[in-house]
Parts: sequence; C-alpha cells; structure tokens
Amino acid sequence: MTSKTAAAAVRATVYGYPRQGPDRELKKAVEGYWKGRVTAGALHRTTAGLRAATWRDLAAAGLHEVPTGDFSYYDHVLDTSVMVGAIPARHRAALAADPLDGYFAMARGTQDVAPLEMTKWFDTNYHYLVPELGPDTVFAADPAKQLGELQEALALGLAARPVLVGPVTYLLLAKPAPGAPAGFDPLTLLDRLLPVYAEVLAALRAAGAEWVQLDEPALVQERTPAELNAAARAYRDLGALTGRPKLLVASYFDRLGEALPVLAKAPVDGLALDFTGPAAANLDDLAAVGGLPGKRLVAGVVDGRNIWINDLTASLTTLATLLGLAGHVDVAASSSLLHVPLDAAAERDIDPRIARWLAFARQKTTEIATLARGLGHGTAAIAAELAVNRADLALRAGSALTRDPAVRARTAAVTPADARRSLPYPERTVAQRARLGLSPLPTTTIGSFPQTTELRTARADLRAGRIDADTYERRVEAEIREVVAFQEKAGLDVLVHGEPERDDMVAYFAERLTGYLATRHGWVQSYGTRYVRPPVLAGDVSRPEPMTVRWTTHAQSLTARPVKGMLTGPVTMLAWSFVRDDQPRAETARQVALALRDEVADLEAAGTAVIQVDEPALRETLPLRAATRPGYLAWATEAFRLTTGGVRPDTQIHTHMCYAEFGDILQAIDDLDADVISLEAARSHMRVADELAGAGYPREVGPGVYDIHSPRVPAADETAALLRRALEAVPAERLWVNPDCGLKTRAWPEVRASLEHLVTAARTIREEL
Ligand code: GLN
Ligand code: ZN
Repeated sequence: MTSKTAAAAVRATVYGYPRQGPDRELKKAVEGYWKGRVTAGALHRTTAGLRAATWRDLAAAGLHEVPTGDFSYYDHVLDTSVMVGAIPARHRAALAADPLDGYFAMARGTQDVAPLEMTKWFDTNYHYLVPELGPDTVFAADPAKQLGELQEALALGLAARPVLVGPVTYLLLAKPAPGAPAGFDPLTLLDRLLPVYAEVLAALRAAGAEWVQLDEPALVQERTPAELNAAARAYRDLGALTGRPKLLVASYFDRLGEALPVLAKAPVDGLALDFTGPAAANLDDLAAVGGLPGKRLVAGVVDGRNIWINDLTASLTTLATLLGLAGHVDVAASSSLLHVPLDAAAERDIDPRIARWLAFARQKTTEIATLARGLGHGTAAIAAELAVNRADLALRAGSALTRDPAVRARTAAVTPADARRSLPYPERTVAQRARLGLSPLPTTTIGSFPQTTELRTARADLRAGRIDADTYERRVEAEIREVVAFQEKAGLDVLVHGEPERDDMVAYFAERLTGYLATRHGWVQSYGTRYVRPPVLAGDVSRPEPMTVRWTTHAQSLTARPVKGMLTGPVTMLAWSFVRDDQPRAETARQVALALRDEVADLEAAGTAVIQVDEPALRETLPLRAATRPGYLAWATEAFRLTTGGVRPDTQIHTHMCYAEFGDILQAIDDLDADVISLEAARSHMRVADELAGAGYPREVGPGVYDIHSPRVPAADETAALLRRALEAVPAERLWVNPDCGLKTRAWPEVRASLEHLVTAARTIREEL
C-alpha cells in the first residue's frame, strides 16, 4: 500500500455527541412539549435541525463517518427498548395510542403508571432507563427511529454509521420485570432478541448503512463464563447473517479483559476499543491475542469523559503501534462525547491561559480529525497542530496557575496519623454521649430542607445584581431561623441549618475553594431533560476562608440543641466534577480533603459538636473492574479520614450515603471510621441495616425511615414499624432515626407532617425499649 492510499484510509469518527444543542434547545423543546406549548411536529423539526447541525459540524471538523441513532428525546437505552419492542405491559396502551406520549410515559410515568426505573450508566453521571424483561417478553423490531436518523444523515451526503446498544449489554443492563419468577436472568432471552437485531441490521443495510456499531460497554466488567459465552454466541450469530452491514463492536470505559479474545475471534468486521487511562491496557491485551488481522480497529485515544486537551504526540505513538496490530486503524474518542460539554470556546469567563487546556466535544472532534490526518499522512501534515499542542501541554505542565507550593508541601507532609482519630470509636462514643446527652434513638435529618421559590429567586436576584450580598444573606438567615424553629417545635434532637445557601452540594464548595473553576455553558446530560454543569477541578486546592461556619453558627445561636455542621466529602467533590488529569486522583483527593479538614476544624472551634460529611458518590465511582477497586477504596477512604481525622474524640462525625446497595463496599464504610452513618433504607425495608449488622459494623447507624423520593407522608405507625424492623439488626444504643436523604426536593407541608410523624414514632419506640 502506498502512503497515499493508507492516508485516504484512516478515518476519524465519534460514537455519539452531546444532544442538547448550543443553547439547550433540546431541553426547551421537550419540556415545551410536555407543557403543551410545543407540538409534536415542532419538536420533531427542532430536533431534526439539531441533528443536522451536529452532523454538519462533525463533517466540517474533518470526521469521515458520523454516528446516527445516538440522538435521543430522553435516553438511548429507552430508545433501544422501543427498538426491540420491550414495552412493559403497563405502558403498552399509551404507546399504542400515541408513540411519543407513550415513550415519555415510560420515561417519566403518569398519574396512573410508574416509569421505568432509572440508574447510572456504568460509572458516568448519565442515567438510563432500565429495561424490564421477563419470561413473557416478546421482542419485535421497530427500527423506525434508527432508519429515520440514518436517512437524515445520508440525505446530507454524509457517510453515516448507525450506533446501537448491543444485544448483550442491553440484556445485562435489564432487570427482571415485575412478576418475573425469582432469579430470572434477562440474558436467557438472548436467543429471542438476536433475530430482532438481525432484522434491524438488515433494515439499516437496506437503507444504505455500510457499517453499524453495536455498543457493548458491559463487556468491560468482569463477566462470568456464561456471559462471555453469550457474547460469543451473539456475535457468531449476527456475524453469520447474510446481507448484513459490516459490524463494529464497540467497548469503552475500561479495558475489555477476558472479553477481548471472545470479540477478537468473533466473525465481525471491527472492534472499537478504549485506549485511555487504565483502558490503555487494551494495547498489550490486543498484542497478546495476535491483534485484529484483516479487521478494522477504531482506536479511542481521545478521552471521551474528561475535558482536557489530548497529548497528540502520545496518541500518535499509540496509534502507530496499533497500525501493526490491525488490518486497518481509525481514530475516535474513548467513548461517546455525550459525557462532556459541547464547546469550550463558549467559556469566555475562564482565564484564557487555562481555557487553552480545555477540550469539550467540539475541540475533541478536531483533535480526532487531526490525529487521523497525522496517522494517515504523517506528522508533517499536522506539524502546526502538534506545535500548538506541545506548547499548550508544556505551559500546563509548568504552570504556576495549577501549582501551589504550600498545598504541595502540605500533602507531602501528611502522615498516617493525620488520617486517624485520636481514640477508637468505643472510647469516642462515651465522650460524645457525655457531651451531647441525647436520648436513645436520637432523631435528625440529612441536612437540606425544602428549597423554596423565594430562596431561588433571591439567589437569582443576587446573581443578577438586583439585590446585594447583605440582603441575600439576611434572607438566608431568615430561612435558617424558620428551619430551626420548626425542628425545635417538631422535637428533633440533632438539628441542621437546612442548607438554604446551597444551590448544589458540590458547586457551593467548588465556588469557594481555590483550584476549582465554574463553566457558564458546560452542560452535561444527567438524565432526560436534566443537565448538570460540573465544576472543573483544574489546580491545587485550598480553602481561602471558612465556607459554612457562619450559617452553622447562626443556626446554633438560635437553639440549645446541637446543630450539625454539613459538608460535602472529598470523594463526592471529585466524582461530580471534571478532575485534572495531570496528577493521580488520589493526590487531588488529598488536597480537597485537607481543604475540607480546615473547614471541619473551624466548625469544631466554633463549638459545633456534630459534623456530617456527605459521601453519596463513594459507591458510584467504584471502578468497573474489581481489580482496580481496592486502590480506589484505599485513597477514597483515606481522603474521608483525612477530612475528619483531626477532630476531638467528643466531636461526633456523621456521614451519609444515598444508596441501598452496599454489599461491595461494607469494608470501605467501616474504613471511614465515622461515628454515625445515615443511609437510604426506607424502600428496601431496612435491608441495609441487616447488611451492616451482618458485616459486624460496630458504629452508629441511621437507616432512613422516611422515603424522601416520594411526596407521600408516611404515618407514624409505619415509621415505627420500620424502626422495630431496624432494631432487629441494630441495637437501640446505636440506632438513629432520620429520613433517607436531604429534603430539598420536597415541599414544606409533606416535610412538616413526615418529620412530626418521625419524631412521634421515635418516642413510641423509646417507650418500648
Ligand atoms: N446533606 C445533603 C442534603 O441533605 C445530602 C444530599 C445527598 O446525599 N445527595 O441535601
Ligand atoms: Zn442522600
């Protein structure tokens, strides 16, 4: 092959792109449709316009193949359920009556029917709707959405590659439908599902798709031999189809591991692999299986999940190695670009020196195109781009903006003793009991109280300059007074200030810590029409001044009961941000931990006897592969202990997590060495209390007895019953009484009644002790 034909051959592509549009047009259109202000026709036209604009941008940036079918009104896993006809019985009538309304009913529920459950898409902050499958599920192909988008892109004269959730991942992400027999495994439906995929593939081929991508990210997790066999069978069968498009099986978020030999042997035409971070191990793994001779390899060398510029020289080295390992190499991001914001160029407020290091979806697309050109035509063809990239990386590497010698000296000086309380829990609890003097089964809440419209308006007014900081602070204090007065009247034992000053539990702290940046337009889809703007952790972290002390002390000045200080923990501060990639996360976590430790010290010095450090993200950032979990849990728990380890024995440290599934991190919870942990438990009927007890958790526990995800007000009897149930697992002297989570999404009337019932229930049970 001459270098010229090789050049023509290297293609640049992506697996998916942010859906929202530059001005979140998608959110506005969909929510407008829900409110009846936008017609179905207008919704379709707006979104078709967004898709076309995206494809044109991608092509203009130099991509040779654009993805189709990755767009969604709500969620691509829900779209897959529609594509294969896996509609739960309760939604069938609505879907038959009106496909669009039925679709949204599956996503959001209606007065009468519950939506599909929502859960996290692997270890990202995107949430998908969980397919519900049972032995009675009858699949039927409905390729209309895929075909429609393919035709739109082809009509623009573009090479388009439909992207589908692969059949194995689809089944592995599913849960047994209500009423399915216990232990039903959706994967047993594979043989029924494959013919439907075959039909969709044939339809796409007939409509002009040369390639179709099947996403199998579930195969990067450790899989049983049965699951790996299912993958082998799926791709053997799909590969054997006649008249099919070429198949590209994509994996991302980690290395393929044991699934790599399975897919490498399968009769498909190409694999897409992640080569970023720990997934770079795919390179050696690929060599070990003898590469992909005669097949297409799409190399994900640009990080699809973080927002920093690529090291183009390093990526070219990886790509050059890969050239020897596959019949053909193309260039892509490691995953869909759905997980990053759209355009770094829109961030005009970020220091221009730092802005140069940022790459959002648009910038990543250009990097991918550049790399494809460099790989195909030689580095001389991209000399200018390489020079700029090297200069930017050099500036970043040496920048004083991201390096604070004092912070570095402090993290370097950390000793194991800093991450250890001065006394063990059994001795601390004696001191804490003496100091706090609480009755058994103390009642408390998780921190936030309802965020009222007045509060939101006040915050917007402050931002817009309509009110000054003093006025705003007086409103926050007025809110704190109300929250404290209510809690005293309701008879709660350990009070909170209610977090009225916080929009968001991470952003509030990020705005006050050095090293963090905020974006103006950096929206990323969380689920449906919900978008978040994660802060950017760009440099060394420190805390210039106290962040919460004034609110907590104000609350404490109003009551004789203890007021809990309320902080977001270091692991969560990282998990819900874009984190710098120029040093290990463990190091960044240490810096955040030390900054929070200063806040803890100031709260304690101000007389706060109880301090809660929330870590709802501890479990959700758990690495996908078991081998990397111990390392993560070691630094994560150390960061928590570094945050809290400096307090006196009689200062009580609480932590909080929002999950009911803890089986795999019980040891880590113990390693936090918190005095009290509150958890979500109401819906799972206290199962978590059993699990903790079963694991011998020795400290105090507050399994949630009030489900705050629902507007329902639980009666006092019901709450008391849950407490009796909790007492079977946790002895009375170690049991706390609290809701599942914060109350900020609830309305005051429900909260008032529910908390009054909670106090009544605690009093009832105390009498029974
Ligand atoms: N303290 C926070 C609150 O009450 C905790 C929120 C969370 O766990 N997600 O809102
Ligand atoms: Zn919570």
